[in-house]
Amino acid sequence: MKVFKFGGASVNSAPAVRNMADIVRRHLGNSTLIVVVSAMGKTTNMLEQLVPGVHPAAEHPALMQKVKDYHYTIIHDLFPDAGHPVYAAAGDLFAQLEQQSAQAPTDYNFDYSQTVCFGELISTTIVSHYLNSIGLDNRWVDIRTIIRTDNQYREGIVDFAATQRNTDGSPLLSGTPLVVTQGFIAGSADGHTSTLGREGSDYSASILSYCLGAESMTIWKDVPGFLNADPKYFPDTVKIEQIPYNEAIELAYYGASVIHPKTVKPIQNKNIQLHIKSFLDPDAPGSVIGPFSTIQPLTPLYIFKNNQTLLSILPKDFSFIAEDNLQTIFAALAELNIRVNLMQNTALSFSLCIDDNPMLLTRLRDRLQKQFRLRYNQGLQLITIRYYTQDIIDRIVGTRTILLQQRTRTTTQLIIQ
Ligand code: ASP
Ligand code: MG
Repeated sequence: MKVFKFGGASVNSAPAVRNMADIVRRHLGNSTLIVVVSAMGKTTNMLEQLVPGVHPAAEHPALMQKVKDYHYTIIHDLFPDAGHPVYAAAGDLFAQLEQQSAQAPTDYNFDYSQTVCFGELISTTIVSHYLNSIGLDNRWVDIRTIIRTDNQYREGIVDFAATQRNTDGSPLLSGTPLVVTQGFIAGSADGHTSTLGREGSDYSASILSYCLGAESMTIWKDVPGFLNADPKYFPDTVKIEQIPYNEAIELAYYGASVIHPKTVKPIQNKNIQLHIKSFLDPDAPGSVIGPFSTIQPLTPLYIFKNNQTLLSILPKDFSFIAEDNLQTIFAALAELNIRVNLMQNTALSFSLCIDDNPMLLTRLRDRLQKQFRLRYNQGLQLITIRYYTQDIIDRIVGTRTILLQQRTRTTTQLIIQ
């Protein structure tokens, strides 16, 4: 059994779907292939606009039309026969989506998942029909009957025990050599739809790989593999061929966008190797995450995060930053669900770096201002460099100002103005 994950970019047009079908065809062998597919292109962004309450209902028809037009362009190209059953199947899903987005708003997290799930339901319906139409017989599986989460709905927490029970004896194991299913979406404990957080399809594939004890997992991307920097910021990137599991977790945690941060742990627990390959050059070796001791080749790794806020929190009463003050600060951060990208303290102040978010910043200030003074700088860049040298730091920083720097033996993090 192997698990493949195809992201939005790999199915964002009719030629892209044909290309992914070609990759699937070339990998069909003796063992079952589970194909996990995201929503097509930027569909999830569009669907987020259709969550009840986000826009006035009067704006829905135009938004809805955009979603339909985008998908029907792809469907018309892939299925010239207007009588093909995919037309009825897609029409049915669009009608359900329309009905869902017309509901009165309830809890945002709940409404969110009941609405955005249609991106993956529609994409897998199209892909499954298309593969069947070219002779790649497959079974479409509703992943909501298998991956189980809590009732948080959005960014649901996976219940691995329940998911494992659902996997054993599920249609995934029915002996069909090819299965098509959805990434990102899941079933909540109370029987509704939940989602795993943006870009969560990698994680879906990893959960299935874990529960099925897959031989391997492959993520098909529009980059040649795991690069040492984002090519958007760096002209000369180096492809990393081998990455130890823990290194991949660290990198995803620091913000490397190549895989969803939760993806590695499940496959590491079962010692399953994770390949990252290019759907544009499927024969190229790509990168592999596995039980290695070091990255190969050993080269500096760069992660850039823009739109950062550096916040300094100072006790008003001139007490030191000690356990009790930290406890108050961390409680406020946890309550507001603010993720801290870096932190540092001196005797009199506690500094932390978070993603720019004026609304959350105001709420944090409201919560802390009785006891603390808050100072902040917005619009900064957080740079993480693993396997750095002073030379490299100087080159990256140039003439810019470093507001804060941390170093360990292998990693340095810099906040730059
Ligand atoms: N379609 C979802 C998103 O755009 C999940 C994914 O692509 O992994 O976030
Ligand atoms: Mg995606």
